[in-house]
Amino acid sequence: MARLSLFRPNVSTIKDAERVALRWFSIGFVMLGSGFVLTFVLAGRSVGPAVLATGAVIGLGTVIWVALATRYNTVRKTCPRCSASNAVFRGENYFRCAACGFFAVLREM
Ligand SMILES: [Zn+2]
Repeated sequence: MARLSLFRPNVSTIKDAERVALRWFSIGFVMLGSGFVLTFVLAGRSVGPAVLATGAVIGLGTVIWVALATRYNTVRKTCPRCSASNAVFRGENYFRCAACGFFAVLREM
């Protein structure tokens, strides 16, 4: 599965970043929701706030991560197999095509 390191090895394109961010957003959202239920509905006052806080931190962290990722320089690379255009983070040696899943190795740097 995806590693937490910023851009590699599974996050080499903007599409990868969106996919990872969406996953973390859903985790944060679920934690916020269950933390809210624990705190205010089930009155689990010891566990609820901790789950709420963790969910909030994950949500905030994802927002910051996305802001960093979108500011990072990207270059347009054409997939050698389906010729779809991919926004690849600068400095990546390879990327996985968002359209067809082809694993493309970039020779020029
Ligand atoms: Zn492709």
